[in-house]
Amino acid sequence: MLAGNTDRDRKAFRAELLERDVPAGRERQRKIIHIDMDAFFAAVEQRDNLELRGKPVAVGGSRERGVVAAASYEARKFGVRSAMPSIMAKRRCPELIFVMPRFEIYKAVSLQIREIFAEYTSLIEPLSLDEAYLDVTENLKGIASATEIAEDIRTKIRRETNLTASAGVSYNKFLAKLASDYRKPDGLFVITPKMGPAFVESLPIEKFHGVGPATTAKMNRLGIATGLDLRAQPLPFLQQHFGKSGPYFYWIARGVDERPVHADRVRKSIGAENTFARDLHTFEPMRDALEPIIAKVWRHCQATCIRGRTVTLKVKFADFQQITRSKSVGDAIDNFTDLEILSLGLLEPLLPTEKGVRLLGISLSSLAQAQAAERRQLSLVL
Ligand SMILES: [Mg+2]
Repeated sequence: MLAGNTDRDRKAFRAELLERDVPAGRERQRKIIHIDMDAFFAAVEQRDNLELRGKPVAVGGSRERGVVAAASYEARKFGVRSAMPSIMAKRRCPELIFVMPRFEIYKAVSLQIREIFAEYTSLIEPLSLDEAYLDVTENLKGIASATEIAEDIRTKIRRETNLTASAGVSYNKFLAKLASDYRKPDGLFVITPKMGPAFVESLPIEKFHGVGPATTAKMNRLGIATGLDLRAQPLPFLQQHFGKSGPYFYWIARGVDERPVHADRVRKSIGAENTFARDLHTFEPMRDALEPIIAKVWRHCQATCIRGRTVTLKVKFADFQQITRSKSVGDAIDNFTDLEILSLGLLEPLLPTEKGVRLLGISLSSLAQAQAAERRQLSLVL
């Protein structure tokens, strides 16, 4: 917008600035959807293994230091929660079945649901593999009702992935996220502008997004237990006790949250690197050290369906001097072997070296989405 030089552009820019200054409540009403897959990792495991259906399942390691990454609803009935040490989970639910995570599969499903979102809007802000905010105020299908869009999306997710998602529909991110949680699993809930303030009022403070256990304890000490209590506090009081978060708390207690939906930022490069325990001097150990780094970059390409045309090798020497060498090719690199050959081709001319090498890194840039055909094939493979 700032780049514009014509009168019209400047006028439009000023209008946009003015629009931003419109006080809360008078702002143009937005339509925000929060989509959240139900017990995501655990649901994928139950989908792919009949024997796990209807049973308490925890995704994660069962060993001594293992942690539950996700729990099925059957396991949750016993009080098993994600991030809980596996030992404690087993104590709460002796029949609990532990399954090792399969992140490649979860990432592939995540891409499937994001493609569904993208049919409706380009304003998608993923929070994790299984959760995203969508701004559908102006959507690609011209559907007036956000509720209708949320139902469409839930139906498509069920049809294409055999998994269920819950949706929250509201006029801002804070309330949309609360709404998706309200009728979980497999539910949809709408918080209208009329309902917003009352909904927040009755809410226990620990249910507020952005209020963790520490903040909950602090608020409780200050006599704040519900949204209503929070709303009773003046802004300076909240700023004094919660610093920068003060205004956020002040406004969400009134159901006001003007944070925009930030569309997924476009990545400029994909890279990985490793610092070695001992400096390397010759080609063979460096080649061996590069192998897992290249593999990691390639796995990321596969998981995100992104391909690059430029390979960059980063070398840090024992004296901390750092150099990079790059090579670009005409077509996107579409297999591991090509990426490896190009990477090693950048390393070879630098050797032999008198100084030891303490770090090697590989990154890919000039990125683009993989061809649609390739993407379909990938999702079949997985
Ligand atoms: Mg979820």
